[in-house]
Amino acid sequence: MDFTGQAAIVTGGGRGIGRAIAEKLAQKGVHVAIADINPDEAIEAAASLTSLGVKAMGIKLDVSKAEEVKKVFEDVRKEFNKIDILVNNAGITKDTLLLRMKEEDWDSVMDINLKSVFLCSREAIKEMSQRRYGRIVNISSVAAFMGNPGQANYSASKAGIVGLTKTIAREYASRGITVNAVAPGFIQTAMTDILPEKVKEEVKKQIPLGGLGTVEDVANAVVFLASPDSGYITGQVIHVNGGMYM
Ligand code: NAP
Repeated sequence: MDFTGQAAIVTGGGRGIGRAIAEKLAQKGVHVAIADINPDEAIEAAASLTSLGVKAMGIKLDVSKAEEVKKVFEDVRKEFNKIDILVNNAGITKDTLLLRMKEEDWDSVMDINLKSVFLCSREAIKEMSQRRYGRIVNISSVAAFMGNPGQANYSASKAGIVGLTKTIAREYASRGITVNAVAPGFIQTAMTDILPEKVKEEVKKQIPLGGLGTVEDVANAVVFLASPDSGYITGQVIHVNGGMYM
């Protein structure tokens, strides 16, 4: 996988899965922009990549705000001259049972998890389609495929990502842009740390390969789809879930 000289944006890359993706891309020689709502985490994560000999920038971005997305993509394009890879990773949960779910919990999860993929992909594709090359990798979830009690908003947003992935893949295949998704199962991060121990134990029983996955497990699949070697793969979902959903 030769990524030499390529440039990427990873949203929500300040910590967790996004940070692991940014690190793996940088290890392959990719210049990386980490765009995260938490500027301190973004800057710190980016600074840690420069020792790998690549350019790295940490930028504050709320992925649900169209104007911010436009500005950040312009800034990254100025810095790196191009964008080869976009990883739409930023995401949140606001879990509760349907009858207790507030409209604002529905809206914020849809905006940050799903609308963001539309906004960021639109900006990236403007540039990628001119150069007739691009790789977009969207982070979905096993919850999109199995459903999960308490996650009506989250599972709907992550299922929406799958439909969006396939449509953008069809629209821009002729421009050399591939668009795929990775659907993680239960991965050890801050997002799953908040789950009660009892829930985690129940989840583990459903995982044939045993235990929660690591951020590296997810990052490996993302880097594969982001590589120039994956040019004949588009509109697909790679499941990284220890066999929880087959
Ligand atoms: P995480 O540790 O909570 O990291 C998410 C990152 O996104 C954080 O840095 C967060 O910033 C940032 N973020 C939140 N809202 C944002 C916004 N509006 N704009 C830009 N950045 C924002 O979560 P994770 O576990 O690494 O999850 C990463 C992705 O994988 C998410 O899309 C998630 O849904 C998906 N996923 C995770 C799992 C899992 O088991 N962990 C399973 C399936 C799918 P703050 O630090 O300020 O919150």
